Amino acid sequence: MPPRAPWITFTTEVYEKIKPVVRGQVTYRFVRAEEVNRCEKVLEDKGRRCRNEAERGSKFCRAHQPGDSKQEAPAIFSRGD
Ligand SMILES: [Zn+2]
Repeated sequence: MPPRAPWITFTTEVYEKIKPVVRGQVTYRFVRAEEVNRCEKVLEDKGRRCRNEAERGSKFCRAHQPGDSKQEAPAIFSRGD
């Protein structure tokens, strides 16, 4: 889980499930650590930054992708206000 807002970035660890060698015993293997950035969009009416996670390779979340204002996607992550 990410730290409480305000946050800029956090690292999440990705694990993959390994087939149980012993029945009923599931193991996870650490795969990699991924850095998750916060969307840089400033919500002017609310006076704070967007709380969604930025898309991989982008500074903005799905709702705030620049140059794609055709549709305003709903917030995909709810972290509570
Ligand atoms: Zn955003």
